[in-house]
Amino acid sequence: MIDLHTHSTASDGTEPPADVVAAAARARLDVVALTDHDTYAGWPAAVAAAHEVGVDLVRGVEISCSHRGVSVHLLGYLVDPHAPALLAELEHARDSRETRIERMVERMADDGIPVSVDQVRSLAGEGATLGRPHIADVLVANGYVGNRDEAFRDILRGGSRYYVPHYAPDPIHAVELVRQAGGVPVMAHPFANARGWTVEDAVIEDMAEAGLAGLEAYHRDHRPAERAHAEALASRLGLFVTGSSDYHGTGKENRLGENTTTAAVLAQIESQASSGTEVVRP
Ligand code: AMP
Ligand code: ZN
Ligand code: FE
Ligand code: FE
Repeated sequence: MIDLHTHSTASDGTEPPADVVAAAARARLDVVALTDHDTYAGWPAAVAAAHEVGVDLVRGVEISCSHRGVSVHLLGYLVDPHAPALLAELEHARDSRETRIERMVERMADDGIPVSVDQVRSLAGEGATLGRPHIADVLVANGYVGNRDEAFRDILRGGSRYYVPHYAPDPIHAVELVRQAGGVPVMAHPFANARGWTVEDAVIEDMAEAGLAGLEAYHRDHRPAERAHAEALASRLGLFVTGSSDYHGTGKENRLGENTTTAAVLAQIESQASSGTEVVRP
């Protein structure tokens, strides 16, 4: 069982990286990828845990991108964490996320919603990539909503009056940066339209032209029609397809191993990578 998309407290998951890897072993995964939003901060602890619990680990990142205002998530597997251009882009995004969260929280506090920047910072993991889920966690802690999902249904959703965007690279450029960093770019949940707008196939064609390797066809946020569309588009563009859980600990219902990737596709990811960042095989 191979699950190539999970989050830890290095971003908006609820479990530290070592616990995510331990949970992967308990869920009987053979291979797990840690793909926190816009950061590699969870990698060292995940590597140590992989050796401890005996599960194979793919080091990755989920890059928040934006194409003409439409959010796109790009998974970058086995990138060189020192590749300067990608690193700079991730740092830019994380900095912008900080000010964006401050502005959202200020707008909310002005309206009497019980949340403060200090609380968000103390609830989020040390050095974590800040995201809307961290605001949600404070609202839950303060009894304003029951869970993250409830917060996202209203005050945190994209069209909310409190919503503030953050800097995010164009996905076509991000594909190029992942390739430059020796990694393998896979578009996450390309047609997950329940949470907001998704890009047209033409944009995915341009991403493929720029070096995209695969589409995450099997994901909880895709219904059968979207899975079929992803399979057909991937086949037309010569891309492989993956399946993953997008596990966030208790922050989302997604369970480890609920969607999986084949060993043949993982072999393609490994053979396309040229970064020196290898799959950890304890
Ligand atoms: P941000 O990147 O700060 O704009 O926040 C988006 C993140 O929030 C995504 O990575 C999702 O994992 C998470 N998210 C979106 N909708 C929900 C939801 N309904 N419940 C829990 N987490 C969510
Ligand atoms: Zn997330
Ligand atoms: Fe995502
Ligand atoms: Fe994700």
